[in-house]
Amino acid sequence: MSESSTLMMSQEDIAARVIVQEHLAHEHLKSMPTVVDSSAQKERIKRLLKQQNAALVAHYYTDALVQELAEESGGCISDSLEMARFGSQTPATTLVVAGVHFMGETAKILSPEKRVLVPTLEATCSLDVGCPADQFTAFCDAYPNHTVVVYANTSAAVKARADWVVTSGIAVQLIEHLAAEDKPIIWGPDQHLGRYIAKQTGIEMLLWPGSCIVHDEFKVTGVEQLKQVYPKAAVLVHPESSYAMAEIADFVGSTTQLIKAAQEMPNKEFIVATDRGIFYKMQQAAPDKLLMEAPTAGNSASCRSCAHCPWMAMNDLDKIEQVLLLGHNEIVIDADLQQRALQPLKRLMDFAAAI
Ligand code: SF4
Repeated sequence: MSESSTLMMSQEDIAARVIVQEHLAHEHLKSMPTVVDSSAQKERIKRLLKQQNAALVAHYYTDALVQELAEESGGCISDSLEMARFGSQTPATTLVVAGVHFMGETAKILSPEKRVLVPTLEATCSLDVGCPADQFTAFCDAYPNHTVVVYANTSAAVKARADWVVTSGIAVQLIEHLAAEDKPIIWGPDQHLGRYIAKQTGIEMLLWPGSCIVHDEFKVTGVEQLKQVYPKAAVLVHPESSYAMAEIADFVGSTTQLIKAAQEMPNKEFIVATDRGIFYKMQQAAPDKLLMEAPTAGNSASCRSCAHCPWMAMNDLDKIEQVLLLGHNEIVIDADLQQRALQPLKRLMDFAAAI
């Protein structure tokens, strides 16, 4: 290696380290609100949950305090499939679903006899919003011989139009299973997940052009810079990220699978491309490992996003307490719609149980 190239490498390394330090300083992980003393409020909420025979069901992407409360009160912290399954199996007659709107709807579809409350009705999801039922129905109607498979991140009305609902953890297996029927497939609404499945299975699908605003922001360049400083770090990627991100990953999987990977892979350092809320359970599962947020945005971006879903962030202790005190924000679904949306969800549950 010539002296000038040695110098060049050194400058690149320094530049990468500066960028990485900026990223790590920016990391919100370290400022997640676990140190706030909210014990009195948590005790009040636990009493309300008990008095109302209610269970708190929280998604991995909610803030640490919400997850702590779900854990301490005997509720559940999980992905959307497990949240729904827990909700339908718990003896609780009220479910408080801390996540986004479609998760509350899914809980209600599976447990219509239960009261389902959400901390705020405003918490939605870019995949849900980007797939209006009327437009998606028109799209599907144009391809009447296709099997329609939709991701869990959809409204009850979109689910009702589908043949199957699926979650990221078992999407590859389901599409392989359906391919045996030799019918073409419509996939919606997450185009990145659809593309990832198509690459994994070799099965072409018609994709609805939706995406997640959080996972869309992870960039290969930022991960490569971080890897220059932490060359032994394994890269964990959720498949709602771009396919370019999946290509540089050491492991691609659903939230539950990513937590398991951090626990089981021999690496001591991980770069994680999914919502930073996952660090609460991931660090519990892998306490001796260094977990780093994958950088968002590129070098030319004027700002960096925070790898945290703005709608998941709306769930907080105040809103959970209020919803239990006031009984508002109840999820209500028309009985006919509930029945139609239940069929593809039941197929998902049965398929998940069978594999
Ligand atoms: S992280 Fe993305 S997919 Fe999940 S709720 Fe937020 S916008 Fe939707």
